[in-house]
Amino acid sequence: MDERKRRMIQNRITPIDLFKLTPKTNCGQCGQPTCLAYATQAVVGEIPLGSCPHLDSQGLEGLQSRLDRQLEAGIGRKREGFEKTLEFLRAELAGWDLEALGPHLGAEVERDPHTGRVRLTLPYLDDVVHISPSDVVSLSDREINPWEKIFLFNYVIGGAVEPSGIWVGMESLPNSISKIKSLRSHCEEPLAKAFPSDRYALARAASPWFVELEADDGGADWAGQCRVLPKVPLRLLWWAEDPQDGFPARVKFLFDERVLETLDLESLLFACEQVTERIMKRHSQGRS
Ligand code: SF4
Repeated sequence: MDERKRRMIQNRITPIDLFKLTPKTNCGQCGQPTCLAYATQAVVGEIPLGSCPHLDSQGLEGLQSRLDRQLEAGIGRKREGFEKTLEFLRAELAGWDLEALGPHLGAEVERDPHTGRVRLTLPYLDDVVHISPSDVVSLSDREINPWEKIFLFNYVIGGAVEPSGIWVGMESLPNSISKIKSLRSHCEEPLAKAFPSDRYALARAASPWFVELEADDGGADWAGQCRVLPKVPLRLLWWAEDPQDGFPARVKFLFDERVLETLDLESLLFACEQVTERIMKRHSQGRS
């Protein structure tokens, strides 16, 4: 590797560098669900740096030319962006006392038989994962993607509180305005469109993760509850379309009132996206 490229790699703009310049409000104006998503996408040239209207325009010029040079030199591929974020979270996690934290997270604490280091065993949707500062590994040998690793590290770092048992919509959670739109367009509307009238099709597609509820307070035609992580339950309510009155099908996610003491809003949205993706995938496989 030549000296110029080595220097460029050392001084490259990373997603974390860019993330630190954002206001971290996750307003969604850049078209990304979170500031972290914006930073990881912009740094690899997937979206323009200027997509975020809240960055200082003068500083942006210098940043843009540095970024152009590093992308031209082939530095900053997508994978590297995720890796940089994970590196940051791993370093954070290394300073936490996992043994003390485990019971609060609903995790089992054990020692890795190979390294002797403490690791957590956590149920995650229909999987079980080992989490240690060095990695997240699925016990079912499924590949855990970098976004899931970031989500799971965030759960551990954020700590967790006991759910209150009181269910609310996202609109009742503080500072959630930008996320409500994303939840609707990424999750609730696609699900309503995929399941306009057949409650059994929805119940079937959701069955690996959701337990059907006998009754719910909102008068939904179907309601189910799933546990994304031990302290993160979710509810899904579904109303069938009413062609006579011209009402389309409707879906709504409900959360525990205390969920933001456990997860940040962007992680919560990610959890809903994971659930939606799995239901949609199972539904389309069932039809093919
Ligand atoms: S536009 Fe994007 S990067 Fe900028 S503050 Fe809003 S979510 Fe964050």
